[in-house]
Amino acid sequence: MRLGALEAGGTKMVCAIGDEKGNIEERVSIPTKTPEETIPLLIDFFKQRNIDALGIGCFGPLELNKKAEKYGYITTTTKLAWRNFDFLGSMKKALQCPVGFDTDVNGSVLGEVTFGQAKGKSCALYLTIGTGIGAGIYIEGKLLHGMLHPEAGHVLITRRETDTYGGKCPYHKNCLEGLAAGPAIEGRYGKKAVDLAEEEDVWDLEADYIAQALTGYILTLSPEIIILGGGVMHQMQLFPLIRKKVTEYLGGYVNTEELSDMEHYIVPASLHDDQGIMGCLELGRKALED
Ligand code: ADP
Ligand code: ZN
Repeated sequence: MRLGALEAGGTKMVCAIGDEKGNIEERVSIPTKTPEETIPLLIDFFKQRNIDALGIGCFGPLELNKKAEKYGYITTTTKLAWRNFDFLGSMKKALQCPVGFDTDVNGSVLGEVTFGQAKGKSCALYLTIGTGIGAGIYIEGKLLHGMLHPEAGHVLITRRETDTYGGKCPYHKNCLEGLAAGPAIEGRYGKKAVDLAEEEDVWDLEADYIAQALTGYILTLSPEIIILGGGVMHQMQLFPLIRKKVTEYLGGYVNTEELSDMEHYIVPASLHDDQGIMGCLELGRKALED
């Protein structure tokens, strides 16, 4: 099976060719400009490679309701050139093959469930903490969409009293993304997050905010594993801090085998940052199967 995978991000489009086992034989990165400039390059790449199906994991928000008129569109994105753009339709029409389409983070959780450390789990959550914060949720063997798709980066959290930073989200004063994504760290301290690596207070606050959100996800969704990815999570010192605070916030109320082994419950991504693109291969395989 020759599968195409497309991880569509706000700054770059990663195109890859691989198979249903998750092997990747070729990949290129194309800058995300306007659809008029970028889409023809994507189409050229996949057309020349004779794929059986394509999987796309895309930045959102997206219309994923198959019955909706605008199914497969990017909708209210802040990247104006891509607003209201029929991504799925454009690719399908040009390539004439089955195309799977989902959020980038659902792609990542699918990659971990199919090929990575979440294999065999029926409920898994993948949270990326980078330029934005988003969650992919695999629940009872399916990617969760519901009414729209999860927007778990925007859950409201309790601000620490000493934190006077105004927040980065234009919609919410106190949401996780606005207080804890990379740009929020940089806005609060006036420095690149990577240059704050030695500042204990920075990561203590960051871990607190992430742990508040995770506690809510645990209590609501009951995931069997939580995978944390994205640029900010390269600060590995965050993991023990987050695990400790989650345990504290749960207050001993939930007692499961998983929660008693936090080191294997809240974990870094396992596929060398390929979880997204590998998940897209699986999205393609599923589209072909359907
Ligand atoms: P994106 O979310 O745009 O796909 P990333 O996941 O790499 O990309 O996230 C970029 C954000 O993560 C930036 O705000 C950057 O400051 C932050 N970041 C990237 N690398 C690191 C690092 N090693 N330590 C802390 N923050 C980082
Ligand atoms: Zn928000």
